[in-house]
Formats: sequence, structure tokens, C-alpha cells
Amino acid sequence: MKTIKVNIVTPDGPVCETDANTIIAVTEAGEIGILPGHVAMVAPLKIGSLRLIKDGVTEHVAVHGGFLEVRPDVVTVLAQSAEMASTIDIARAQAAAKRAEATLRAKKDDYDYQVVELELKRAINRISVYETRKK
Ligand code: ATP
Repeated sequence: MKTIKVNIVTPDGPVCETDANTIIAVTEAGEIGILPGHVAMVAPLKIGSLRLIKDGVTEHVAVHGGFLEVRPDVVTVLAQSAEMASTIDIARAQAAAKRAEATLRAKKDDYDYQVVELELKRAINRISVYETRKK
């Protein structure tokens, strides 16, 4: 089966360099599936799970915004932060979710609702991607 290269890069450095038969990404326009030979394109990513499927095995990567660049032989993800399911610190993600939820509940005047909402979305995404490890 044909494969396509995948590079996931963040400001902290490379997160993953591998190849896959199919890549499924959550873009602002919706979910897309990428196969080897896909037409070149660039798309903004949502906070979500990037799925790398190879030989019937799916690997999940928590990706937090950024861009997807597709070329026929390589897919590059440039994200502010990204973690493979196996590197997620679940206690940290749960603590971040609790913190964000408490801030949203408190509804203080001086907090930035959008920033806290994004913190919560990142934490929920990490928890959800971590859960896929058990499946
Ligand atoms: P926190 O409040 O726990 O720092 P955050 O959403 O503000 O979470 P980010 O700014 O998205 O964190 O990421 C900062 C760095 O920490 C990145 O390198 C990211 O990969 C890493 N990181 C954040 N949360 C986790 C986690 N639960 N497990 C592993 N790495 C994490």
C-alpha cells in the first residue's frame, strides 16, 4: 500500500516524522482524508485529533490549531502545540481542564473568555486523544 510522509512540527521542535497510508485531519472547513498523491493545498487546523493510519493501525495526535500543508508526497503540520497520544500527561490535562472550568464558572470581569475557552478545548482534546490509547 502506498504511503505519504508526515511531519508534525511545533515551536518546541519536531513532534513526529513518519509515514502513513491515510491521514485524517480536522480543518476549519471540516474533516479531510489525505491519501498519497493528494493535490497540493494548505488549510487551517482546528483543535482536534490528527489520525495517522498505517497498515490498519491508527495513531492519534492531539493538534492544537496551526496549519496543514499537503503536497502529493508529504504532509506537514505546523502547530502551536501537538502531542502523540503516548506522550500526553493526563494528570496535567485534567488539571488544566479543571482550572479552565473553574475560571469559566467564576465569570470574573477581568478574564479573557476566549483564551480560557481555548485552554479548555486543548485540555479536552488531550484527554480525548489520551483515551484512544486504550482502544
Ligand atoms: P497547561 O496549562 O497544562 O500548560 P496549555 O494548553 O496551556 O496546558 P500549551 O501552551 O498548549 O499548554 O503547550 C505548552 C507546552 O506543553 C507544549 O510543548 C505542549 O506540547 C506541552 N503540553 C501541554 N499540556 C500537555 C500535556 N497534558 N501532556 C503533554 N504535554 C503537554
